[in-house]
Amino acid sequence: MVQELDCVVVGAGVVGLAVARSLAFARREVVVLEAESRIGMHASSRNSEVLHAGIYYPEGSLKARLCVTGREMLYRYCEEHRIACKRLGKIIVATSETDLQKLRAIDENARKNGVTDLRWLDSAEVAELEPNVVCRAALLSPSTGIVDSHELMLALQADLEAKHGVVVCNSRVTKVAIEDGGFRLTIAGVESEAITCKTLINSAGLWAQDLAASIHGRRHDKKLLRNGIPQLYFSKAHYYAYQGKSPFEHLIYPLPSGDGLGIHATNDLAGAARFGPDATWINAIDYAFDESTRERFLAAIREYFPDLDSGKLVPAYTGIRPKLCGPGAAPADFVIQGEEVHGVPGLVHLFGIDSPGLTASLAIGEHVQRRGQAPED
Ligand SMILES: Cc1cc2nc3c(=O)[nH]c(=O)nc-3n(C[C@H](O)[C@H](O)[C@H](O)COP(=O)(O)OP(=O)(O)OC[C@H]3O[C@@H](n4cnc5c(N)ncnc54)[C@H](O)[C@@H]3O)c2cc1C
Repeated sequence: MVQELDCVVVGAGVVGLAVARSLAFARREVVVLEAESRIGMHASSRNSEVLHAGIYYPEGSLKARLCVTGREMLYRYCEEHRIACKRLGKIIVATSETDLQKLRAIDENARKNGVTDLRWLDSAEVAELEPNVVCRAALLSPSTGIVDSHELMLALQADLEAKHGVVVCNSRVTKVAIEDGGFRLTIAGVESEAITCKTLINSAGLWAQDLAASIHGRRHDKKLLRNGIPQLYFSKAHYYAYQGKSPFEHLIYPLPSGDGLGIHATNDLAGAARFGPDATWINAIDYAFDESTRERFLAAIREYFPDLDSGKLVPAYTGIRPKLCGPGAAPADFVIQGEEVHGVPGLVHLFGIDSPGLTASLAIGEHVQRRGQAPED
């Protein structure tokens, strides 16, 4: 049996759901195919749940633009849909003279991205706001906040369903054939039944490159289909929960270091604190918690929170970032690829949707909806 559909989005993470919602709002018939038994089981539920202001990304990059617009879209959306979220504000701390210089550069970069509400704090002002934090100076970002990513994903799914869209779980897409005017998808376990669609959005996160590599078509240049697929690197993150009352009112961030934003402190919506993430390069997807990271965490946190009681840190969870840059390389931008790269109308790939993908999700949804026009549109 063949099921003929208009749009298929592969992957029901926060970004896939936001894209599906945007397509459904543009009157497209949308089905989201998700490999797992529930939505949002990968990056979308294994992150910091921070709504980023858009401070660090290079000017003009997709990350900068989609983060800044997406953040305000998301705050509005959360208010309208009564999704738990709070503009807690974030304090980026400089603990050394070198940090101070870096912080000035961060301030300048933020302005270029249109983030103009950052405020400098001296050590006394920081102590007043956050008595447990020790630093030389800091930047306060009032528009940084937190969101309940699960509530957000459920609201996106509900919006999609209200527009007659569907999410189908337990449906791993294993192969895609390009046909005249669309695509034929094979789903694991139901190989005898095919699904066809006119528009295909690859929002498969850590598996986006695998899905892209499975796409074939007799009349399509193999090289063109493959060449545009960027190399994928896995960067693993650990989080430790802090037992007891949170020592902070704001989100506390050190300066970005190595391959991440530094081990920071975030409060969740219940007011509990957690520390993380760190960044370790791995070769395969593996969410096991490595407790040998504890000493590294303690040292990094004590740079700005010297009174940390190590007994209060307990392993919480891990996540894996789909990175498009390897160890030591400059951070890469999101890659949202259409026909201009691979030559296939109606096909959009989303590669390397790491942070700030949660913040930018609604903006990415709109951006992809505009690119995911069916061939005859
Ligand atoms: C450690 C960490 C911290 C982060 N912190 C933040 C933060 O504080 N703020 C922020 O804005 N962003 C943050 N991010 C980024 C954010 O979490 C991601 O950008 C976002 O969740 C990506 O959503 P997604 O839908 O693209 O991917 P995912 O949530 O990974 O979803 C992809 C989905 O595709 C499915 N799938 C894969 N292959 C197939 C297939 N063949 N067939 C069917 N389904 C398939 C998977 O099962 C999965 O559900 C963080 C990310 C990480 C890892």
